[in-house]
Amino acid sequence: MITLTDVTKTHPGGVTALDGVSLSIAPGELTAIVGPSGSGKSTLLNLLGTLDRPTTGRVHVAGHDAGALSDDALSALRASLIGYVFQQFHLAAGTSALDNVADGLLYRGLRPAGRRRRAAAALERVGLGHRMDHHPHELSGGERQRVAIARAVAGDPALLLADEPTGALDSASGQTVIGLLRELHASGTTVVIITHDRALAASLPRQVRMRDGRVIGEVRRAQAPAVDVSR
Ligand code: ADP
Ligand code: MG
Repeated sequence: MITLTDVTKTHPGGVTALDGVSLSIAPGELTAIVGPSGSGKSTLLNLLGTLDRPTTGRVHVAGHDAGALSDDALSALRASLIGYVFQQFHLAAGTSALDNVADGLLYRGLRPAGRRRRAAAALERVGLGHRMDHHPHELSGGERQRVAIARAVAGDPALLLADEPTGALDSASGQTVIGLLRELHASGTTVVIITHDRALAASLPRQVRMRDGRVIGEVRRAQAPAVDVSR
């Protein structure tokens, strides 16, 4: 789904946030990215999501060389392929949950009625069918993050990228949000989650460990074998 090859990223001001990272995310994976604050996790996620371009090295997304695409072509690729969830929700204030989600579909070539229909379905999916007309300030943190997840998945992206999605939530709301991300994974979405939660990371099939802008290790956890119902 995504491959980074020998990627470095030096931010304006000269901070080298990524220092030679190679990483592949296969379709259908559920991966945690862990590491201390400042180790380059968010920079890595932004490159995986083509929100930013590497200083050197290559990024391939769904068979495209991201470095060879124009900004417009990259935007189109993102709109059709990738959903994003951030720690601070990034919802528009003064806009209902329904419109927050529907506006996320603006670049999908749908009519307004079609956008609202898909948005409503996405909100139902995250258990917020009864909160569609609420504005962000009328929702709890956990509910806001569920709206953000609905917005991220309303367009049915193959890939969902989440940067500390539970970082601003109490543990019960965080569990609900992680449960939703697991459900999306179970239904076929490739999911990458940055997290500080060690227990959560250890419970996921794959952990990528970062430090000082490098991948310093990986853990893969054997999955419970699928139950064979054919006999
Ligand atoms: P993490 O998400 O693991 O905390 P980041 O990827 O946000 O790490 O940051 C890695 C390093 O890059 C840090 O030293 C940070 O200060 C720096 N950095 C991140 N974003 C920028 C930016 N936009 N401009 C300058 N430096 C940045
Ligand atoms: Mg970060």
